[in-house]
Amino acid sequence: MLKTPADPVDIGLLSAQGSQFVCHYTLAQLPRFTAGLAGAKGQVDASFSFRKVQGFPALEGSMAAQVTVICQRCLEIFLLPLVAELKLVFVPTEEDESLVPAELEAVVHPDHRLGLRELVEDELLLSFPLVPMHALGDPACRPAVKVLSEAEATVTEVPAAAVEVTTRPLAGLKDLLRRED
Ligand SMILES: [Zn+2]
Repeated sequence: MLKTPADPVDIGLLSAQGSQFVCHYTLAQLPRFTAGLAGAKGQVDASFSFRKVQGFPALEGSMAAQVTVICQRCLEIFLLPLVAELKLVFVPTEEDESLVPAELEAVVHPDHRLGLRELVEDELLLSFPLVPMHALGDPACRPAVKVLSEAEATVTEVPAAAVEVTTRPLAGLKDLLRRED
């Protein structure tokens, strides 16, 4: 592993050298991502490996973090593990995209400079679930209010309303009949 280069990095140089290194970011360094979390405490560990693919700079990377979020089922705070993987090839124009092997993702990026921190932040935002929740079956996840299914809601609400409407007129009718006797 080589020394971590200064961000933004030169992807032309790093891929020519076959550089590999690890970066650590605090969540406070990733404000766009942290804005959607329940807390800004935590760290992201990312590893990067550069090489050339078809003569273009290529980057393989992985990142992992544990972030504080609110479970949308039980509304409790919990630690959500996030992982993301990258397999990118940076090409100068759209026409070059067809030269990139299908298992890799072609990115049009004519500049040799690349902001790694920004890239990590983008990837974490993409890997973040739309509705964060405890894993299914996690005993820590206990919804505070029991949510009725549609069928249960129908059974409990409709008869109550029907009783209100039907009993009063009948009671009134009985009174009238009694008076006529
Ligand atoms: Zn939960």
